[in-house]
Amino acid sequence: MKIFYTCEYCGEPIDTIEVDEADEVKFGFDCLTDRERQDIIKTDASGNAMYVHSLCGKCITAIGLTEE
Ligand SMILES: [Zn+2]
Repeated sequence: MKIFYTCEYCGEPIDTIEVDEADEVKFGFDCLTDRERQDIIKTDASGNAMYVHSLCGKCITAIGLTEE
């Protein structure tokens, strides 16, 4: 399964990783509510790909989230 990370702000692809199986705990997805999960994660109909909305470094800096 491939996981594609895309910046939800500028739409740029951030990263693509290949995993044997999606481990939600490992990726921290288990911390999300169902609603957040639906917003952030899109699973391909075939089950072979997952699309995760995130923020790229550029946008994190631009929005000023670096301080957290
Ligand atoms: Zn971005």
